[in-house]
Formats: sequence, structure tokens, C-alpha cells
Amino acid sequence: MAPVRELPRRDPGEAPPGSTRLALLHRRILACRRCQEAGLLARAAPVLPEARPSRVVLVGQAPGRVEETIRRPFSGRGGRILFRWLERAGLGDEEDARRAVYLTSITKCFPGPAASGAGDRRPSRAEVELCREHLDRQLALLRPWLVLAVGQMALERFLPPRPMQQSVGRLFSAAGQELDPGALPGPPALPLVLPLPHPSGASRWLNQEANRELLEGALQVLRGLLQRPPPG
Ligand code: SF4
Repeated sequence: MAPVRELPRRDPGEAPPGSTRLALLHRRILACRRCQEAGLLARAAPVLPEARPSRVVLVGQAPGRVEETIRRPFSGRGGRILFRWLERAGLGDEEDARRAVYLTSITKCFPGPAASGAGDRRPSRAEVELCREHLDRQLALLRPWLVLAVGQMALERFLPPRPMQQSVGRLFSAAGQELDPGALPGPPALPLVLPLPHPSGASRWLNQEANRELLEGALQVLRGLLQRPPPG
């Protein structure tokens, strides 16, 4: 499926605006060992995307083992599912989506497997707090007009607590107010927040037909947003 919007054309040698500052921020984050020094992680190895600014930012939970090995966000099985969703929303194939969307996470290092053996461990509150500054700086630099909040942890970072069923398929302002996607407000309400479920195979949320319909609704909202000029 073709992308809904032409990507900006640039001289191949030309750096996008803000990329130097973003590269400097990435260098700082990649050097971070806070969780290892605090005894929260056996090994800190931050994973970040290419330092290519975008005002559409996707925030997941944390990198998985494959991401830690390959050093690229969303490169495991969950990522493949996520990119299929984004393609259905009109963002083109995986490489198109990686160019159009800045992909990051609440914490930047693989937290290890869950004690239950099913999926990855959810980062602890202490890890989230230690990593909060990194995400804050990313958002301050990129100034997104749209945040795709993927999974419960990302949802909790951007919106007041509410179940996934009452979040996916709806669009929210930065203050957590539900918005009509057909009548978008201006900068004070930005970034808009569009929740998506976690694409991990360990999540059972999408086993229910009603929840899959909510996901389709969210992808339609996203497609509609991307077909319009960004609000601010
Ligand atoms: S999870 Fe975040 S704060 Fe913790 S070591 Fe990795 S980059 Fe640093």
C-alpha cells in the first residue's frame, strides 16, 4: 500500500533540521548506565532509532532481546506486527514508517525476560524514573504534534489512568481530553495522543474480536490524521 503522504524530498547529503541536536542527545542517552549502576539492570545497552527528527513520535515500553542485539527499535516479532499496523494506516512499508516516525520507548534498555517466562519483564518504577529525563528531552527537542502511545506503560505516561478498552480507537489532547478527530484543536492541545495496544505476542488483549475492532478504529483515526496538514 502506498504511503498516504509524500515524504519530504531532501538532498541526500542534507541533514534534516534538528538532526545535529538530536544526534548529540542520542550520544548522551547511549552512554547512560544509570540502571546498571543502581543495580536495576545487569547490563545497560540503550537502543535508539536513527537521529532523524520527526514530529510524529511512537513510544513503546522498552526494547526486547532482538532490539538489544540488532541495536534497532522494534526489530523483533512485535515490531513486524507494529509495522503491518502502520502500513494499514497508510505509512507505507517498514522503511517508510521508520523514516516518517521517530520510534522510541519509555525505557531504553532491554529489561530482561519476565519471571513467568512469558515475554519481557515490565520495567520497574525505578527504571522508568531514571529514564524519564531521556524521554522528556527527546519530546522537548522533537516537539511532536502526534504521539502514538503503544501499550499500557506508554498510555500511563501520557494520559490519566484508564483501561485500554476505553483508550484504543480514541484520540486525546495533551491534557487527556478526548477529541473529535474531525475537528482538531491547535498547539495548546499538542501533542495529540493516539493509544495503540502493545503488539507483543505475549499480550492477550488482541485475542478478543472487540479489541481488534478498536485497533482497526485507531488505525483509521491515524490514517485520517496523516492525510491532513499537521495541526500546529
Ligand atoms: S533504561 Fe534508561 S536510565 Fe536506565 S540505563 Fe538504560 S538509558 Fe539509562
